[in-house]
Parts: sequence; structure tokens; C-alpha cells
Amino acid sequence: MDYTILVNKQHLLAEDYVPENMVEIHEPTGSKLDKTYINRLNETAYKAFKTMQKAALNSGYEIFIDSSYRTYEYQKMLFNSCVAEKGREYAIKFVAVAGASEHQTGLAIDVIFRRNNEMIEEQNESDAEIKWLFTNAHKYGFILRYPKAKESITGFNFEPWHFRYVGEKAAAEIYALGLTLEEYVAGKTQ
Ligand SMILES: [Zn+2]
Repeated sequence: MDYTILVNKQHLLAEDYVPENMVEIHEPTGSKLDKTYINRLNETAYKAFKTMQKAALNSGYEIFIDSSYRTYEYQKMLFNSCVAEKGREYAIKFVAVAGASEHQTGLAIDVIFRRNNEMIEEQNESDAEIKWLFTNAHKYGFILRYPKAKESITGFNFEPWHFRYVGEKAAAEIYALGLTLEEYVAGKTQ
């Protein structure tokens, strides 16, 4: 599988696109970690996350997966319910239309973290856990997919919680050069 697959508002995944090599994931969730988040994710990406999770814990940060694989239908439902609730203009800005979400690749995760026995779901760029991810995720093959001030390139607002597995080599290059996946892929095909 090509881990650098580009998915955005110009490069949509087909309605019937279902990624290969996914595994079922069981992650603890809830403030007491007494609940289980069950979903699917690409096997390599999940292994990389588990390694990253251990490294984060060694630095004193408890990170978890809040969102992983999403089907085309589920994304469609998310978008439509946002339209119904907040209007089309808002939805287009903040929720990916079906096919434009890279959660459909099984390579993207939204990260939450726990601090003082409390799950923090309002992730902020000033959080130590998020800062740790900003500077360490690439070592495990993940990139911050929607960086700040790159909205015009990615087509998405800054999302400090959304990380995308691209493999260690690509992640290292993207991190070192401060690129978006769009710029990285464009550079490769020139
Ligand atoms: Zn996400």
C-alpha cells in the first residue's frame, strides 16, 4: 500500500474504496480507561501508533486514539448532520465531504490525551501532549496533516489532533522540510 496516498477536497476517494490490511483495534477510553474504543485501522499504522504511545508514556504523556477509520457512508452522515445543524457554509469549512476525509484510508487518527485522570477532548496546540506529538510523531511515521497557516494548501483548517501515517521516510522528509502532504506529493511527481 502507498502510505503517501493523497486524499483531499480535490482528490476524493471513491464511494466503494475500502482499504486493505486493516486490523481491529481495541483502545481504552473514558476518564478511567474503563471503556473500550473499538474500530479499525491499517495494521502498520496501528503498530506505529502503539510504539508512539509507549514513547509518549515514557515522557509522561498518555495519548489515545479518538477516531480512526471511517467509511464513506459514515463521513456522509457526519457531513449531512453538520449541514442540518449549522448550515452548509459552516459544514463545508469544518467537515470533510464524503470521499475527502483521509479517515477513509485507515491511515489517519485523531488523538486525545489524559491528564490527571481526565480525558482532554479539547486539544489545543499549547498542550504539552500535542507539542510532544508535533516534534516526535514523525519518528513513528506520522505527520501533522493540517498544520496552521497551511489551510490554503490543505483545504482544511488547522487540526492539532489529526495525524496521518505516511511511513517513517516520508514523515522525516515532510517534517524536516516543513511540508504538507500536498507539497510532498507534488514534489515527488515533478
Ligand atoms: Zn481527523
